[in-house]
Amino acid sequence: METINTKVLIIGSGPAGYTAAIYASRALLNPILLEGNQPGGQLTQTTEIENFPGYPKGIQGMEMMQELRDQAERFGTVVKPRTITKVDFSKRPFTCVDDRGDTYIAETVIISTGASAKYLGLPDEDKYNGLGVSACATCDGFFYRNKTVAVVGGGDTACEEALYLSSLAQKVYMIVRKDYLRASNVMKQRVMSNDKIEILFNCNTVGLFGEQGVEGAKLVRHKDTEKEEYFDISIDGFFLAIGHHPNTDIFKPFIELDEQGYIKTDAPTTRTNIEGVFAAGDCADPIYRQAVTSAGTGCRAAIDAERFLIDNSEL
Ligand code: NDP
Repeated sequence: METINTKVLIIGSGPAGYTAAIYASRALLNPILLEGNQPGGQLTQTTEIENFPGYPKGIQGMEMMQELRDQAERFGTVVKPRTITKVDFSKRPFTCVDDRGDTYIAETVIISTGASAKYLGLPDEDKYNGLGVSACATCDGFFYRNKTVAVVGGGDTACEEALYLSSLAQKVYMIVRKDYLRASNVMKQRVMSNDKIEILFNCNTVGLFGEQGVEGAKLVRHKDTEKEEYFDISIDGFFLAIGHHPNTDIFKPFIELDEQGYIKTDAPTTRTNIEGVFAAGDCADPIYRQAVTSAGTGCRAAIDAERFLIDNSEL
């Protein structure tokens, strides 16, 4: 078990983490980036990315993350396949311990641990992952032009995703487990007045089916009641919009989080309540959650960390 000193420790390897690493390493801060248990982050779960500037022909998520990693390593970032399991931000330098027991003593920390979309927990979600199951309409909706899709959830995100998909697909089902939408009134009105959207209230998904990819969903209406009824719908895409979990649990004892668990930052900076600890990307973003916005905050976090080190005479 090693003890490693660093000026900048970056926790997480999505677009925010790698962009922070590119900036910090070009500023000669020799950052260490720990990949976490999903190297490359959420984008490695998606297929083609068509909305990241600079790729006019689109790029596979996996490939884009590899390119970001190569770019960070080119300037000297040390990338390690480790996950932080414990932190102590009570005093500087900060102490972080990884899953193999190595300890990092860091002058500054950039948290870019991302968020994970919630899934229903059906085995079919894994089976059809990348074959019709998605948790990001903005990322994958384009592939469903003139097709039929379903969105699970009745909150603002589900309404937004359904409305977005309705501009591309020929029909959008919303699968809502209650008999009402939890979303704000304005969103409710928009989905209810959209001819392409059909809301299936009181419905839960029990499975998906299809040969090469998703061709339909098995639903149950009024589950566990006298009116219980099983039926299938034909769909080409199945979108989850039942919320996200920011990956921030281990920071809770030290870092101020909002009620949903997202890290609070002193916008427009990436400063957290602990001086010298910065947050970038989806772990601090309940609103936009896009690769390009994450990359932007990663850049800001690296600049914030560099300025912090200068102001505190570490450089
Ligand atoms: P929410 O928690 O508001 O809604 C989640 C939805 O998913 C609910 O309808 C919930 O059902 C449903 N759901 C949860 N678990 C399951 C499950 N296992 N099976 C079936 N359905 C399930 O999450 P959102 O992501 O929609 O929103 C998060 C926050 O972000 C909210 O405060 C929202 O207002 C905000 N937001 C605001 C936007 C805006 O203002 N433009 C856009 C997007 C989000 P149930 O109601 O039965 O619990």
